[in-house]
Amino acid sequence: MRKVFLPRNIAELWSVMADEPAARIYAGGTDLLVAMRSGAVVAPALICLERLPELQGVREEGEEMWLGAASTHADLLANHLVGRHLPLLAQAIRTLGSPPIRNMGTIGGNVCTASPAGDTLPPLYALAAEVELQSAGSFRRLPVREFITGPGQTRLVTGEILTGIRVRKPVEANCHRFEKIGQRRALACCIASLAALLTVTPAGVVTSARLAWGSVGPTVMEVPAAEAALTGAVMNRDTLLRAAAFARQAVTPIDDIRASAAYRREVAGNLLLRLLPG
Ligand SMILES: Cc1cc2nc3c(=O)[nH]c(=O)nc-3n(C[C@H](O)[C@H](O)[C@H](O)COP(=O)(O)OP(=O)(O)OC[C@H]3O[C@@H](n4cnc5c(N)ncnc54)[C@H](O)[C@@H]3O)c2cc1C
Repeated sequence: MRKVFLPRNIAELWSVMADEPAARIYAGGTDLLVAMRSGAVVAPALICLERLPELQGVREEGEEMWLGAASTHADLLANHLVGRHLPLLAQAIRTLGSPPIRNMGTIGGNVCTASPAGDTLPPLYALAAEVELQSAGSFRRLPVREFITGPGQTRLVTGEILTGIRVRKPVEANCHRFEKIGQRRALACCIASLAALLTVTPAGVVTSARLAWGSVGPTVMEVPAAEAALTGAVMNRDTLLRAAAFARQAVTPIDDIRASAAYRREVAGNLLLRLLPG
């Protein structure tokens, strides 16, 4: 029989992790337990992060927001600070899974799974989020784009967990958009997605642009040439088509059961056209 540990605070967690070095960590289990059932992951013991108060909640700290790694997607959606300061992330979470998955799955689990299709990742890249990583004797912060190194790959080292995510409030941005293509409207894994964070003047000139695409490369793809094509230009169809051409050139999608690489490349550009006002 497999042992499952439920530490009640972070001090207990470090002691269980020291005693059970082969145990796997989980939070909601919506990725890990599925992988265990299919045999892709074998774990002699499990340690659950769900009850750790240190990994829960949302805090507004001056110019920054802190999101506890074990906060569920439903917790984040219900939090007015997330709705007010991080509408881009809230839009993405609304499209993630279904109510039961959002009630169990956590933002930390989504980040650590490091799937190119993880819905919270394009917004976190666009927001230049940082992850906070802690072990029994260390603490460090890394930009999320450095933390994730490939599909399912992160810089997490043995003994370390993700405790929180830190994001600077995008106070200048006035266009926050998450666009996702799936095979259907609900419970759909992403075929391609785009997180866009723009500042646009009343005359329609883009003064800053952050763009991040999901599911069109091994990790979230950022395309500086597409951002540069928008910056300083009037946001109209021609400008977006120019940026879309750069995006299609830069992305490196694959064929899989959900869509072909060619379709994903086309859609990566088309998603930008959804930003057209009106
Ligand atoms: C039916 C279904 C539909 C889904 N739909 C979507 C979808 O539309 N979009 C999407 O993005 N995802 C989707 N998912 C995937 C999953 O629900 C999310 O990735 C979720 O956020 C994972 O969070 P979790 O807490 O359940 O992760 P867990 O399964 O608990 O953990 C996932 C991985 O992260 C590690 N981990 C978790 N928390 C930490 C931490 N704090 N520190 C270190 N390591 C940690 C675990 O060891 C494990 O390797 C779906 C899953 C299912 C089963």
